[in-house]
Amino acid sequence: MVTTRTSRQICLTEYPVGLPTDKNFKLVQVEIPEPTEEGEFLVRNIWISVDPYMRGRMRNEEGAGSGNSFLPPFKLGKPLEGACIGQVIVSKNNQFAVGDYVLGMLGWREYWLSNGSDVIKVDQKLAPIQSFLGTFGMTGLTAYVGLLKIGKLKDNDTVFVSAASGAVGSVVCQIAKTKGCHVIGSAGSDEKVKWLLDQAGIDYAFNYKQVEDISAELLKVCPDKIDIYFDNVGGNHLEAAMENMKTFGRIVLCGMISQYNSSSPIPGPSNLFLAITNRLKLQGFIVGDHSDLLNEFHASMVKWAAEGRIKWKETVIEGIENAPKAFISLFKGENFGKMLVKVGPDRSV
Ligand code: NDP
Repeated sequence: MVTTRTSRQICLTEYPVGLPTDKNFKLVQVEIPEPTEEGEFLVRNIWISVDPYMRGRMRNEEGAGSGNSFLPPFKLGKPLEGACIGQVIVSKNNQFAVGDYVLGMLGWREYWLSNGSDVIKVDQKLAPIQSFLGTFGMTGLTAYVGLLKIGKLKDNDTVFVSAASGAVGSVVCQIAKTKGCHVIGSAGSDEKVKWLLDQAGIDYAFNYKQVEDISAELLKVCPDKIDIYFDNVGGNHLEAAMENMKTFGRIVLCGMISQYNSSSPIPGPSNLFLAITNRLKLQGFIVGDHSDLLNEFHASMVKWAAEGRIKWKETVIEGIENAPKAFISLFKGENFGKMLVKVGPDRSV
């Protein structure tokens, strides 16, 4: 007889228009079978990641509704997907023992069955396990790839970072500081600005909600202009940066969170012509194309963290039922550092 385990999961009930609300999501209870086949194992999620890019998957096939994504849309009525860290609790797979931590893509639920093809093991000796969803995981790698490979950071560059205290932005800022760069960050609260200055050790930070003119602010602190703008936000930040770039400056197009909930197409930067006059290079990228850099990235992060050169913040929301709330709050700036949802206990703690 196949025994089952009750698992709660979050499904999308309708595609949001504008900022998602609780009504777009539903908590559903299902039965997950225990492993029966050789090679299978059962994972209990401990941490799940909610990320801005998921908004782009909350659209129908035609791309209607707001947002867009390089990934296929989430299906209505099905559990959402996303990165998660779980622990093997029953195993019929000799590569995955009970107690092992695994990183998979079946977040937004409490339990799931795997055959090992969709997971990688997480080495908890390297860093706290949840940081493999953030600083040592996808968002950290995004910062690393975006700054070093796409932006081709040079020592002593002047670097401007938006959403600078966030999961990606905070790592960008600190990697740039390890290279002796002059780093300016923008963030949405005075508390975040203070952390950037006192903990991340950047040179100048400002609260963009308190600044009348971002371009004038940049001119004030970078009279000699900017070498690299690392864009997490788009919109007015991108336009302001365009006005303050050095000739041959590089703009790393990582994300445009200010536009993800727009229900109509957004015009491009009104000053795009400056890319020609200033011979700028604007390049977008997707972190998933750069997984070959994972080992190099981990080695650098372990070293920098041990030297105290990389610090990070996490905002933790408890309970699978609160995952939609955690996700929505990303668009209100309510997270400080990596937004995580803790959905289960960690046996080793
Ligand atoms: P964050 O941890 O930075 O959280 C999102 C932050 O964005 C919020 O805390 C808020 O910070 C800021 N924000 C939200 N709405 C706005 C707005 N309208 N205007 C300005 N700022 C806003 O998220 P991540 O670090 O996970 O992601 C940062 C960016 O990187 C996103 O755009 C994301 O899509 C992108 N990304 C791209 C990847 C790629 O492969 N290209 C991979 C991973 C992420 P504040 O309080 O400072 O406003």
